[in-house]
Amino acid sequence: MTQVIFAVLVVSVFSFFAYSLRRRWLQMTTIGQGTEEPRFDNILSRIRDVVVEGFFQKRMYTDFGAAFMHLLIFWGFFIVSLGTLETLMSGVFPSLTLKNLLGSESAIYKSYIASQTWTNAIVALAIAYAILRRMFFPPKRFAGLSRHSRLDAYLVLSLIGGLVTTALFYILVESKAGMEGTANVLWWMHCLILFSFTCFLPYSKHQHLIWVWPNIFFKSHKGTGRLRPMEFKEDAESFGVGTAQGFTWKQMLDGMACVECGRCTAVCPANNTGKNLDPRLIINDIKEAMLDAVANPPEKRKQLIGGIVTPEELWACTTCGACMQACPLHIEHIPAIIDMRRYMTMTEGNVPPELQTTLQNLESQSNPWGFNNQKRAEWAQGINVKTMAETKGEVDYLFWVGCAGSFDERYKKVSRSIANVLNDANVSFAILGTEEKCNGDTARRAGNEYLADSQIRENIETFKKYKVKKVVTGCPHCFNTIKNEYPDFGFQADEVIHHSEFLSRLVQEKKITPKKGAVESLTYHDSCYLGRHNQIYDEPRKALASASKENTLREMPRSREKGFCCGAGGARMWMEETKGERVNVNRAREALASGAKTIATACPFCMTMMRDGVAAHQKEKEVEVLDIAELLSST
Ligand code: SF4
Ligand code: SF4
Repeated sequence: MTQVIFAVLVVSVFSFFAYSLRRRWLQMTTIGQGTEEPRFDNILSRIRDVVVEGFFQKRMYTDFGAAFMHLLIFWGFFIVSLGTLETLMSGVFPSLTLKNLLGSESAIYKSYIASQTWTNAIVALAIAYAILRRMFFPPKRFAGLSRHSRLDAYLVLSLIGGLVTTALFYILVESKAGMEGTANVLWWMHCLILFSFTCFLPYSKHQHLIWVWPNIFFKSHKGTGRLRPMEFKEDAESFGVGTAQGFTWKQMLDGMACVECGRCTAVCPANNTGKNLDPRLIINDIKEAMLDAVANPPEKRKQLIGGIVTPEELWACTTCGACMQACPLHIEHIPAIIDMRRYMTMTEGNVPPELQTTLQNLESQSNPWGFNNQKRAEWAQGINVKTMAETKGEVDYLFWVGCAGSFDERYKKVSRSIANVLNDANVSFAILGTEEKCNGDTARRAGNEYLADSQIRENIETFKKYKVKKVVTGCPHCFNTIKNEYPDFGFQADEVIHHSEFLSRLVQEKKITPKKGAVESLTYHDSCYLGRHNQIYDEPRKALASASKENTLREMPRSREKGFCCGAGGARMWMEETKGERVNVNRAREALASGAKTIATACPFCMTMMRDGVAAHQKEKEVEVLDIAELLSST
């Protein structure tokens, strides 16, 4: 009779578990009605990602202590699950135990018992450490967790702790004479904790244990710097995402998979400088919007933008990508933020006034400042630079100058340095001159997909007219957009290269000889759109090292993959920054602390932000900000 009751319990608990997960999956896929990109391509590489990222948790090692503890619990859980399986089987069929099947004296059975004993003990210790850590020395990234989230974590840790300690003590007393009653109590305690955990899991934030696997499998295989194109449906009443239904099923999955570890928040430049933006909360907001849509009829649902999430949070993002790089579950923050910006800009017209001016300038003059576009090539007066029209496109490279390189007084000097280096190296190139229009980065990141679409298509027409095959850009944002986003609009170049990489190549090919020891000492600030979004870290460094008398670079603590944004990406260049510390002031402090007399950059936005940041620290007379091209140019 006991076996029958136990069997009914097991079937009921696991049926409830399966039912809860199926229900949740259906909610995600029915509420998330946005159009998702293909996520079933590259099946083999997706399976490999699940193994590397899921089982070996590659991204966790940025915090070694936490990663080690998590790995112990994770792998330990797999091993003790064998014991749990045996417990369930023996509950239904008492003679079906490994002891009976293998023989209590067999080496294999003894090894099994030893592995269970040790693993249960190790996991119990890891759980105790995790609980004590949360209580007495929580990492900074746990700040901001809701009370509900904290209680959830304690409950789940306690349930796992209960599972392993009851299993451990059961193993220890099981074969002791006179301890049968205690063993029986421990066995039942273990089973009841297991049943409670199984029923609670799909409703806990630890349901990430389930959703992490599909989330890694379906992760984006496109670069993080690329924004997906927006569908323009003729009968659409709104654009972008303004309700839970606007998100895609994958974005819903992101919301459910998030474990609230705060790794994204810990690296967010906006959050670190006192802005309201918390990328963990943005993902949690998607989940909240979904659960709200599940629970309430449309008229009773919370407003997404202005209710669940504020416009201020959404506009604070620099699209630096640090959050997406840090997230162990490959959650995609930037697309969600931009989807909601698209709604604010295109559906509501709710754009910060200063950004509105920039968008108007882009529309009328195709540059963010509103300069007369006919003056786009004036920077090149007096130096040997031809236009595509003059050369009839018969050159190897289009030098894509960009708006800053064409109009910003400081960056016009950089354009001249780039052109001089290209001429020194006998590179065959030409510019578009007045035929060049803004590449679309700012409009896209400001959520104005209509404007970006027209700019991009106009540029592509011009590219096609001159049969452009290779592009060298003077700006990481232009580089990223032309390389990673133009293919979605119908232009795929044979090569798109940023000037830092191109100049580094020219140095290696000995086509240019940089002036050695041009400056006293040098540090290099990674642009997010070169480094994090396009993994260009080494080339600028290789080219730069000999420019310093020290023959090396002074690296900042936050460099390369850990680079800290200058604050200007994601159209933030064109918005006021009134809350907290300015991101560029924070970054400039770090650059100044390196003691280097020159800060090298490779981006017009970074240059402006670093110069302003250095000035804010009143060091502009002592520390210079130069572009990599200026450091390599002989003139
Ligand atoms: S989004 Fe990723 S990094 Fe951020 S809290 Fe969630 S799981 Fe952690
Ligand atoms: S992209 Fe950068 S600024 Fe935006 S939420 Fe992520 S870390 Fe923060």
